[in-house]
Order: sequence, then structure tokens, then C-alpha cells
Amino acid sequence: SDSRKFTGMVEDCSCDYETVDSLNKEMLHPILQELVTTPFFRYFKVKLWCDCPFWPDDGMCQLRDCTVCECPESEFPAPFKKPSGGLPTDDMICQEGKPQAAVDRTLDTRAFRGWIEIDNPWTYDDETDNAEMTYVNLQLNPERYTGYTGSSARRIWDAVYKENCPKYPSEELCQEKRVLYKLISGLHSSISVHIASDYLIDESNNLWGQNLELLYDRVLRHPDRVRNLYFTFLFVLRAVTKAADYLEQADYDTGNPEEDLKTQSLVRQLLYNQKLQSACPLPFDEARLWQGENGPELKQQIQKQFKNISAIMDCVGCEKCRLWGKLQVLGLATSLKILFSVDGKNRIYQPLQLQRNEVISLLNLLNRLSESVKFVHEEGPSAEKLFEGR
Ligand code: FAD
Repeated sequence: SDSRKFTGMVEDCSCDYETVDSLNKEMLHPILQELVTTPFFRYFKVKLWCDCPFWPDDGMCQLRDCTVCECPESEFPAPFKKPSGGLPTDDMICQEGKPQAAVDRTLDTRAFRGWIEIDNPWTYDDETDNAEMTYVNLQLNPERYTGYTGSSARRIWDAVYKENCPKYPSEELCQEKRVLYKLISGLHSSISVHIASDYLIDESNNLWGQNLELLYDRVLRHPDRVRNLYFTFLFVLRAVTKAADYLEQADYDTGNPEEDLKTQSLVRQLLYNQKLQSACPLPFDEARLWQGENGPELKQQIQKQFKNISAIMDCVGCEKCRLWGKLQVLGLATSLKILFSVDGKNRIYQPLQLQRNEVISLLNLLNRLSESVKFVHEEGPSAEKLFEGR
């Protein structure tokens, strides 16, 4: 419509804002919303234990929000540590701290098998199964307002931006570094949008709702943050479509044939979608990167920076935020792995191999970004009207 604030091509991408909004509304968002509820995609394996490699002086276990740390180890029964175990019981769920910040660790008996454990070169995370890993039902732990603010939250974002991807004075910084910055900024926008779309309006009555003022202040008022959100969405979408063959053949078995067929069918609908292929065939062109003569060194450097960002996620002092922070950073790392396992001339460095958890994080991240794009598109204009020039 004429009132669109963002028009033209999404920066560094080959899709325009209008196309992204309509594709998202008509097909990406509905498919993804259903996909993330399937048994395969709703369980994420994560180590929520605090082992922040930075700032040991200010242990986050002292924070009220760090619920895991406040619970004695004896509270975690064996099935909790071994996902192939039995059903959970009520006493597994640690409910200390602020409820809205606590993670519900409900498990089920379905354990995934048949996926290879292979390191992601873009994270420091050790993905091998161990006693500290738990499965989290993402459906029970929506990303939303948790009350995590103040110096701890600020320090995380500061570390991410200042140490790893300083805001670019655009001419100076090379394209590749700009991409890293935009990915992080786009993710940050998406987190803020989720806080705004699911906010605790009235604590005493436990009333949740939208906070359009927050949406305006943290995101809309800064057009580059909106642009970076769209960029990140297209970047991850490109990774998903690039890995189409792999994702199509992947094993979605969770021991529930009916549900698993549905998962597979939804994955296909997403990957081989005519509308997407004709309207936005190449959301982002990764072949343009690392072309300079110092390409390999640059890639190593950026890989190291991104690894640091993933390590910083262990320092997020609110468990639920840490869960989504780790999931989404792994989703970005998986996108980077997919897009850059092939060089500019289409020579394959190594055949793509993904872990189950990487695939889960990738599609859940895409869903989160899709939700954010939809919310900004639908609620943005009224939020602007209400709060612009206030
Ligand atoms: P912040 O969002 O903390 O921003 C800090 C500074 O970063 C801003 O002042 C600005 O200079 C810059 N900035 C902000 N947005 C962008 C952007 N898009 N691009 C570039 N620069 C930007 N809180 C919840 O309630 N629920 C959650 O699920 C949640 N998850 C989190 C996950 C992680 C990994 C982290 C680090 C924090 C999370 N938080 C969550 C906290 C939340 O992100 C904010 O830090 C908190 O609400 C305080 O917000 P703020 O207004 O101080 O600004």
C-alpha cells in the first residue's frame, strides 16, 4: 500500500519488502507455525547450566532469574539427563525465581536417533550428549517478556556488539563484517519484537498483551533495526532453501508415524514452494562474499567472532532468555554453516552435514523471525501513529 514505510529491495538481498511481507503472510508464516508444533521441532537439546566463561566475579547464579542454579542437583532425575528415559514427573520442574523467566523442562519419551554428532565451526558449543544436556519443550517456553533487564542484560548486548561486531561506519567495514553485524542486530530486533508482542501488562492480575510503545521505542523508531530484521529473515530463509535437498531427505522420525509424516509434508511445502521460488528465488546471494584476496583469513576471523557471540550466550542471566538466545544463535550458526560450506565458485569445502539440533534451531529461528516480520508489518503502522512525535 502507499503507506508503506519500507519499500524497495531489502539491503543486500534480492527481494523487496512488499514481496517478503506477502510471502510471509500467505505461506511462510502459516507453514512455520504448524511446523514448530510437530514433535520433531518442538524439543530442543540444550545445556542450560551456567558456565559463563566471562565475568566470573559476578556469578549469574546469584540472580533470581537463574532458576537452574538455585535448584539442587538431586532435583534432576535420570530421565532428565538421558532423553531416552521415561515420562517426566511434576517435581522435575524447577519453579524457583520469577515464573515468567523459568523454563518448563517437560520431556516426553520420544528420543531422536540417527543423526550425526558433528561440530559446528561457528560455535564453541559442545553438542555431544552429556549429563548436562536437557530437552526443552519449546512450545511450553515461549519467547516473551521475562523481566530480564538492567546491567546484566545490557552487558551481554554490549559485549556482543562492542567486542564482536562494532557498528559499521558503512564505507570502512567490509561487506562480510556488515553481514555479521546485521545478523546480530536483526536477531536483537526480533527478540525485542517478541517482548513487545507478549508483554506482562499487569503483574498482579497476570495479564499478558501487546506493548506497542515498547515496539516503537526499541525497534520502529530505528529504521535500521527493522531493515536488519528483514535482512536476517531473508538470510536464514536462503540457508533453509539452499539446504533443501538435505532437509528433504532428513530423518524426522520421532516414533510417531502420523505426526512424522506431517512434519515431512510441511518441510516439503516450505522448501518446494512455487510462490517462493518465483517471487524470491534467491533471498540472499552468499556467493558474493569472501571474494577478496583475504577471503579465507576474513572468514576465519568472523568465524571466531561469531563463536565468541555463541559463548556469550552462556552468560545470559535469565534462563528462558538463555534458552532462546542459545537456540537462535545456533540457528544463525547453522545458516552460516550452510551458506559457507560452499565457496563462491561452488566448490564444496565439505559435504553438508547437520545435526538434528541444528535443524531444529534453524527452523525455529526462521519461525521466530517470521513472527517478528509479521508483527512489525501488521502492528507497525498503528504503533507509529500512536507514538511518533510523542
Ligand atoms: P536492549 O534491548 O538491552 O538494548 C541495548 C542497546 O543495544 C540499546 O540501547 C541500543 O543501543 C542497542 N540496540 C537495541 N536494539 C538493537 C538492534 N536491533 N540493533 C542494533 N542495536 C540495538 N528479555 C525478555 O524480556 N525476554 C526475552 O526472551 C529476552 N531474551 C534475551 C536474550 C538475550 C540473548 C539477551 C542478551 C537479552 C534478552 N532479553 C530478554 C533482555 C532484552 O533483550 C533487553 O536487554 C532488556 O529488555 C532491556 O532492554 P533495553 O531497553 O535496555 O535495551
